[in-house]
Amino acid sequence: MSDDSPRGQAALLGPAEVRTLAEEFGVRPTKQLGQNFVHDANTVRRIVSVAGVGRDDVVLEVGPGLGSLTLALLDVVDRVIAVEIDPKLAARLPETVAQRAPELAGNLDVALRDAMKVRPDELPVAPTALVANLPYNVAVPVLLHLFAEFPSLRTALVMVQSEVADRLAAPPGSKVYGVPSVKACFFGEVRRAGAVGRAVFWPVPQVESGLVRIDRYTEPPWPMDAESRRRVFAVVDAAFAQRRKTLRAALSGWAGSAAEAERRLIAAGIDPSMRGEKLDAAAFVRLAGTE
Ligand code: SAM
Repeated sequence: MSDDSPRGQAALLGPAEVRTLAEEFGVRPTKQLGQNFVHDANTVRRIVSVAGVGRDDVVLEVGPGLGSLTLALLDVVDRVIAVEIDPKLAARLPETVAQRAPELAGNLDVALRDAMKVRPDELPVAPTALVANLPYNVAVPVLLHLFAEFPSLRTALVMVQSEVADRLAAPPGSKVYGVPSVKACFFGEVRRAGAVGRAVFWPVPQVESGLVRIDRYTEPPWPMDAESRRRVFAVVDAAFAQRRKTLRAALSGWAGSAAEAERRLIAAGIDPSMRGEKLDAAAFVRLAGTE
């Protein structure tokens, strides 16, 4: 068995280092890119530990920023691929790692890419785990894009805005259950994995943060190909576009008429007078199968 405890070779970033690096690089954090940098060693160590990644994992990190989480990841896994959209940050990351963890610098690849669009053939190897402090404004689309496009990803641990964490991990019937909850559940088991306060970031964000872990189904309970996914996601979007309505009414556009929606709902074993917020992912998959 390999030892997956931190090597202790990386000098992690604290508040003073984060400010100094940002100044040196001429980085002014922007809201559009969700740039709030973590300056707390305990937080990044905790993220890596909750992610459950080990030496053999190839970690995809989205938005490495100044490298806070990247350094903690390199301390534990043998390969990190960091996808960053900001050219200044992407260009300086290898230097930061070479200075703060020289023995581990060869284990990092940086790709200057948009995580909403990145594809497997643009990365040097297939990643097995996603670990990221995601840019909050695009967290859900990035997460869903990566699970859809990178079948090699078996697990993800992401930090997102607390409300988004709640929504992703919500069970059917809960107030915040919605499109992100069902779509995340389509890929795997989703759970809330802790809370993170504002004080660990610079600049301090206006919202609290939360950790979410998704473990892809080892034995998929339904077909996962792109066409099946497209069909399921289409009916999920339709059901929640009018979440106050009964499914019979909400799905009339999707089915062509209310009568056809009712026929399909009954064929899928679903009461047409129910609302979408009560249906689990399996029910949406059955419904998509009646098309
Ligand atoms: N991981 C760093 C940390 O924890 O300190 C920074 C996290 S910060 C919340 C989000 C990072 O994602 C920033 O570095 C930002 O430039 C980057 N980013 C924003 N949009 C992106 C996108 N579409 N693709 C890749 N990176 C993106």
